[in-house]
Amino acid sequence: AMGGGLELALGCHYRVVIPGVQIALPEVNIGIVPGGGGTQRMPRVVGVETALEMITSGKSVLSEKLFQLPGQQLFHRLFEVKDAKDLLVSAIAFAQETANDKPLPLVKHLSVMAAKNPELFTQTRAALAKTRRNLESPQRCVDCVEAAAGLDFAAGMAFEAKVFGNLVTSDQAKALRHAFFGERTAIKIPDIPSNTPLRSINQVSVIGAGTMGVGIAICFLNANMPVTLLEMKQDALDRGVSSIRKTYEAQMAKGKLTQAKVDSCMALLTPTLNYSDIAQTDMVIEAVFEDMAVKSQVFHKLDEIMKPGAILASNTSTLNVDKIAEFTKRPSDVVGLHFFSPANVMRLLEVVRSKHTAKDVMATVMAVSKKIKKIAVVSGVCDGFIGNRMFEMYVKQAYALVEEGAAPEQVDKALEAFGCAMGPFRVIDLAGNDIGLAIRKRRLAENPSERYSPIPDMVCEMGRFGQKVGKGWYDYEAGKREPLPSLEVQAVIEAARRQLGVAPRSISDEEIVGRLVLALVNEGARILQEGIAIRASDIDMVYLNGYGFPLFRGGPMLYADMQGLPKIIAQMQEFQKNSRDDAAFWEPAALLAKLANANQSFN
Ligand code: NAD
Repeated sequence: AMGGGLELALGCHYRVVIPGVQIALPEVNIGIVPGGGGTQRMPRVVGVETALEMITSGKSVLSEKLFQLPGQQLFHRLFEVKDAKDLLVSAIAFAQETANDKPLPLVKHLSVMAAKNPELFTQTRAALAKTRRNLESPQRCVDCVEAAAGLDFAAGMAFEAKVFGNLVTSDQAKALRHAFFGERTAIKIPDIPSNTPLRSINQVSVIGAGTMGVGIAICFLNANMPVTLLEMKQDALDRGVSSIRKTYEAQMAKGKLTQAKVDSCMALLTPTLNYSDIAQTDMVIEAVFEDMAVKSQVFHKLDEIMKPGAILASNTSTLNVDKIAEFTKRPSDVVGLHFFSPANVMRLLEVVRSKHTAKDVMATVMAVSKKIKKIAVVSGVCDGFIGNRMFEMYVKQAYALVEEGAAPEQVDKALEAFGCAMGPFRVIDLAGNDIGLAIRKRRLAENPSERYSPIPDMVCEMGRFGQKVGKGWYDYEAGKREPLPSLEVQAVIEAARRQLGVAPRSISDEEIVGRLVLALVNEGARILQEGIAIRASDIDMVYLNGYGFPLFRGGPMLYADMQGLPKIIAQMQEFQKNSRDDAAFWEPAALLAKLANANQSFN
């Protein structure tokens, strides 16, 4: 009983239920308010507080919990039956018992139980402005519940209908619907039938107990799956296990987990230094150093010892998964599983399909991703896969803007005002400036004509690797994460501009956002035309769930669609006129040009 189904039930005279039923009004998640009277009837049956929480969060609550609410009128009976047949018998008996009631009750005749806290609506609006930043629908949900508390039923219904009508055609609702369906579509792989027999995955192992290995192990432990964690040395293994324990303890301290759950998760973990202990597991995920020689060593070993049919996965973020597969005599069992840091928190999982990966391996890992509550998006093999390949273009523009006259903090603020969780320089400081340095070096070696601003290298040369060393594009006070503009960085930027003969100009926030977002769009179009991504919405899901792109804009590709592709091309042509920028960079991808000419869109 969710959404419209629940609203229909609320229009009935009586409602009966069994335990374990999920009850929800999830409309807020697709950018609207419940439009079938839910915002007016729910407060009448469960009180303003519960209704407000359910309607603004969209989360489901179990029927037995709602049944226990004092004074609730949502359910007239809770039948403790297991079988649907027994429910029917009980429901019919209840109907007969009440058939002669006169008049039959209706929710609209109930009055709204007033909120105990007179500041409830104001406080909820303020809290939602923070937790659901930039989103319209949560705020409008509050308006509707407030209307239920303040107006008579007919006026409240008219109010709800008006709010619903305004929201349903809005750009935000379009973007949220896109995200909702995009998540569900991403799991479908066109050439792999949904009835493909799956390999059974009951036990997994993780190799490498570093940053990623620890996070990945937690994902599986949380899903109640036994995990064997393998390291090279005892101290590294101990550090990994203790880091897993600490993560759980921190969650327990916040009241998110019980001691019993922590104990049961830790009991599922087996640390080891011996490969023979992982041989019988159904899937192994490698998260060792990002070095082809180390990966080669590990995959040769896995090939030797793992039981036939085991899935061999790599968490590599940059290396060629086709080549990793070829280290084994069973390349079709190899797949990339690119988690994002922190792996136990970030919802995105890029599933990298190599040219060798078997279809049943793909189908199986997509199913496993659901179990560990990830949003899985398939990517082909290329430099950076979907997310990091696009991010590379995005930061290239960020550096170019700084070279031309913008300050890093201006770039970040402009993107944050656009709705991004964090601007690019803050992201780089968080991830580590040295990672980009290594990527630039490699790419320059592969393609010497690649154009890069010298500024990020100069910042790295000063040891400003980011938050982990207390300084990067920003300064950081010891133990704090707040980015403080750095005079040292400013001096480096000014020196670089002098060296390059650049007279800095004032750059508008609009240009900053335009250049960064369109850099994503153009590379996204290339990724799509090359078949690296299956569909445009997959690219959007990567950016919404792994890169903090604003949900209310639906992702870079939907953003481009909503602007209109001809307008996107015109903007790129404007950027091409800038002699300090790279005209070749702004050459529209063939697919983008084709769609724009035909007045079509990506999605
Ligand atoms: P890390 O240095 O924190 O951890 C690597 C761990 O692997 C270390 O504990 C090391 O002792 C262990 N190790 C090395 N060789 C081993 C071997 N032969 N057998 C067993 N254990 C071995 O590195 P990390 O950041 O966790 O990255 C691991 C992998 O995940 C890399 O491929 C990296 O590219 C990828 N990745 C990292 C991130 C990130 O943000 N850190 C994100 C996505 C993917």
